[in-house]
Amino acid sequence: MAEEKVDVLIIGSGHSGGMAAKVLTEKGISCLMLNAGPVADVHKDTEMKPAYALPFRGFKQPGQLPHVFQSNEFNANTWVDEKEVPYTYDPQHPYNWVRVRLFGGRSLFWSRQSFRLSDYEFKGKSHDGFGDDWPISLADVAQYYSRVEAIFRVRGRAEGLPQYPDGNFVVDDSPWPTSMQRFITAGKQLGVPVCKARSSMGVDGLASSVNLLLPDAFATGKLRAIPNVVVRELSVDKNTGLVNEAHFVDRLSRREMSVKARVVVLAAGTLESTRLLLNSKLANSSGVMGHYLMDQVYGPGIVCSVPEARDGKATPELIGGYALIPRFRNIDTKAKNFIRGYALNVHSNIGPMDPRNFATYGEDLQKKLDSYHGSGFGTSIMAEVLARYENHVSIDKNVTDAWSIPVLNIQTKYTDNEFNMSRDAVDTSIAMAEAAGFEVLSKNYDPNPPGYSIHELGTCRMGDNPKTSVLNKWNQSHDIKNLFVVDASSFVSAGWQNPTMTIVTLAMRASEYLAEQMRQGNV
Ligand SMILES: Cc1cc2nc3c(=O)[nH]c(=O)nc-3n(C[C@H](O)[C@H](O)[C@H](O)COP(=O)(O)OP(=O)(O)OC[C@H]3O[C@@H](n4cnc5c(N)ncnc54)[C@H](O)[C@@H]3O)c2cc1C
Repeated sequence: MAEEKVDVLIIGSGHSGGMAAKVLTEKGISCLMLNAGPVADVHKDTEMKPAYALPFRGFKQPGQLPHVFQSNEFNANTWVDEKEVPYTYDPQHPYNWVRVRLFGGRSLFWSRQSFRLSDYEFKGKSHDGFGDDWPISLADVAQYYSRVEAIFRVRGRAEGLPQYPDGNFVVDDSPWPTSMQRFITAGKQLGVPVCKARSSMGVDGLASSVNLLLPDAFATGKLRAIPNVVVRELSVDKNTGLVNEAHFVDRLSRREMSVKARVVVLAAGTLESTRLLLNSKLANSSGVMGHYLMDQVYGPGIVCSVPEARDGKATPELIGGYALIPRFRNIDTKAKNFIRGYALNVHSNIGPMDPRNFATYGEDLQKKLDSYHGSGFGTSIMAEVLARYENHVSIDKNVTDAWSIPVLNIQTKYTDNEFNMSRDAVDTSIAMAEAAGFEVLSKNYDPNPPGYSIHELGTCRMGDNPKTSVLNKWNQSHDIKNLFVVDASSFVSAGWQNPTMTIVTLAMRASEYLAEQMRQGNV
C-alpha cells in the first residue's frame, strides 16, 4: 500500500469509527478503515456451549483476564488478551481496562443505555467552579443527538428535567409495576426523581457499528476495511507538519506495512487512540495529552426484596422492569461533602436471588432462596468521576505488547468526592426502599476499581485554548489540522451518563465538519 494515498484513513471500527465512515462515505469521500482485530460472526460466535462442555464449567481459567470482571468462560475470547496487550499501573491502584478488538469493537457488546449529556456536564465549571467547561453546549449538539437517536432507535420518555435532557425517542409509555410506583412515591417524598430508563433498541437487540453504521458506508462503495492490522505509529510530513502516513502490522503474519493518507481519523477507543499518539510523539504541544483520565463509579448499590412478591406471589403487575434516577444532587441545592452527582439504575428482578444476600446456609438458605425467588429489587450507582490532571496515562518504555509496541502505564485513583457520592447514593437508596416497604437485604458502599464501568474518558480533551487542550471543538487536533480524534478521549468532564450517545454524536458532528473542510480545500 506504500504507493497508495487514501483520502481518509479511519483507525478503529467501533461506534466512533463506524459513524465517521458512514458520514464521510455518504458525502462521497473514500475511506480506508484499519482495525486491530478480526471480523466476528455475530450469530455463530454467540452460540453458547453447555457449561459441562467447558474445562472450567463456565467459570474462566484462573488468572485469565484478571481485570475484566465481566469475563467468564463463555465470553473469554471476546476481550483483549491481557498477556498479548498488557498495560501497567501502580499495584496499590489497579485499573480495569476492558477492551474488545473485534471488528465493531465494544459496540457488539454494550448494554445500550443511551443518554444525552446536559449543560450541567458541558458547562460544569460555570455551575460549580470545578474543572473546565467544554467548548460546546447542549444547544450545539442537540440536533446531532436527535439524528443519532433516530439511527439507534432510543426508547425513552420525555421527563422535562434539565439534567436529563429529552430527545428523539421511540416513546416508552409502558405502565409501571406497583412496586416501582411505591418506589417513585418514596422518591417524591425525598425529592428524588424516578424516570423511565433510556436505551437503544437498535435492530434485533444489536445497536452496533456493524449493523447500524457500517452497512450504509459499505453501500456507498467508498469504504474499504482491513481487519487484523494493528497501527503502531503515525508519521508527519516534515515540510508541512501534517500527518501523512500510518505504519501498521498484520497481527497474524506480523508483516509490517504502511499507508499514506490525506486525513487521519482516530477512533481506536479512548486509551488506544491516546497510546498511538503518545507513541507517535504527535499533537501534544499542550502537554496535556494523557491527562484528565476519567470514568464513572460503578459497584455501590443495594439489593432488597418486595415482601408481597415472595412465596410465588410475584406478578407482572407487581414486579419487573427498570427505571432510572438521573442526577438530582447539586442541581438546585448543594450536597455537603461532594460536588457533581450520580445516577442510579433501578431494577426489579423476577428471577432467583443471589445466595450471598442471605447470612445463612444449608436447608435454611434453600428455604430463603425459594421464598424470596422473584421478589428482588435493587439500585446500582453510575457516578461522575472528576477530571483531575494527576489521573493520567503515559508510555511505559519498559513493556511492549505482542507486536513490540510500547504499552500504557495508567495512574488513576478515586478521591473523597467519589467515595462520598457512593455513600450518599447507597444511603438514599436505603431510605427510598424502606419508605416503599421493601426489605433491604444487602448494601455495598465500595466502588469497583477505576475502569470497571468500561467508560474510559478524556486524555485528549477538547477546548478553545491550544495550550490547555489537545483538540478543538470539532475534535480536530490543534497542532495538526488533518488529524481528528473522534472517540471519548475528547471528553472534558465525565458526567454520570453512559457516554456512547455522546461519542457517536460528536463523531457525526466532527465528520460532517471534516467533510466540509475537505470540500473547501482547508484540509
Ligand atoms: C459490556 C459492555 C457494556 C457497555 N454498556 C454501555 C451502555 O449501556 N451505554 C453506553 O453508553 N456505553 C456502554 N459501553 C461502552 C461502549 O461500548 C463504548 O463507549 C463504545 O462502544 C466505544 O466506542 P469506540 O468506537 O470509541 O471504541 P471501541 O468500541 O473500543 O472501538 C475501538 C476499535 O479500535 C480498534 N483499535 C484499537 N487500537 C487499534 C490499533 N492500534 N490499530 C487498529 N485498530 C485499533 C479496536 O480493534 C476496536 O475495534 C459498554 C461496553 C461494554 C463492553
